[in-house]
Amino acid sequence: QAKSEGKGKLCFFDRGMQERVARRLRLEEDIQRGLDAGEFVAWYQPQFDHRGRIIGAEALARWLHPEQGTLAPGAFIDVAEGSGLMNRIDHMVLQSACRQMARWAQLSEFGSFTLSVNIGASRLYQAGFVEEVLQVFTQTGVDPGCIKLEITESMLLDDMPGAIDRMQALKAHGVRFAIDDFGTGYSSLLYLQRLPLDQLKIDQSFVQALPHDDNSLGIIKAIIGMAQSLGLEVIAEGVETDAQRTQLYQLGCHRYQGYLLSRPEPAERLQALMQSPRYG
Ligand code: C2E
Ligand code: MG
Ligand code: MG
Ligand code: MG
Repeated sequence: QAKSEGKGKLCFFDRGMQERVARRLRLEEDIQRGLDAGEFVAWYQPQFDHRGRIIGAEALARWLHPEQGTLAPGAFIDVAEGSGLMNRIDHMVLQSACRQMARWAQLSEFGSFTLSVNIGASRLYQAGFVEEVLQVFTQTGVDPGCIKLEITESMLLDDMPGAIDRMQALKAHGVRFAIDDFGTGYSSLLYLQRLPLDQLKIDQSFVQALPHDDNSLGIIKAIIGMAQSLGLEVIAEGVETDAQRTQLYQLGCHRYQGYLLSRPEPAERLQALMQSPRYG
């Protein structure tokens, strides 16, 4: 198509591409600078039980950008993954989450609290991954039993036996595992029962289609059924309305994460919430 539009258009098209490449490069450099400057931090989105108590939180990467304000991963994850910088961001988030959890574990309000951390798409298979995670536990002094690592179904497709080995090596130290965005991949019951799992996280696309979408309702029922037959916890993410929460409760899902209950917040805000009588 570009050809039939003549040389001028081709040139224009090239410049557009050049501009995109240049923008990626600038972003990559900016991420690098931001990492060196300590601008990447972990924020925490609390998770609630059906009585409205906080039972844990998910650590989520945020970039406190000096000019652009607080940026969520959507603004940098593609470029960070493409350039290998996501490993540094992941490491930083794991480290600060574990350090924070070690501090929180000293407070009585955090008695049975678990902190979930996202594992990047290719990290499970990188050489030294297990050792790196164990080293962070040792350095921060966190009880690995308070940490839950979130993986996705697609991460398991490449090398299932390898994934099981690594997960089991960490599991031996007490770490828990959740499958994030569950329902968007291809997991079968047979497949799931081989993994050392603790939790399925219902993907937010299904949750947000409640209460009127029958397909999503069917998928959610199936996920809850799978979790029950495998003896796993189930949590819904992206819960935005009371109607969604009520329906999830009726279907047998009793753990919730979503804007209805709380947005991701800096550590101090979550701590204040935990220490207020309403949530403890
Ligand atoms: P995720 O792990 O599935 O995390 C849930 C995402 O949904 C978060 O987006 C959260 O802010 C958002 N969310 C929570 N409740 C609601 C809700 O009620 N409505 C809506 N619309 N959204 C809600 P966030 O923080 O932008 O992160 C996006 C994704 O980036 C995460 O999805 C995760 O896949 C990835 N990510 C975040 N932090 C890290 C990290 O430290 N390392 C890696 N590798 N990936 C990360
Ligand atoms: Mg997650
Ligand atoms: Mg998710
Ligand atoms: Mg997601």
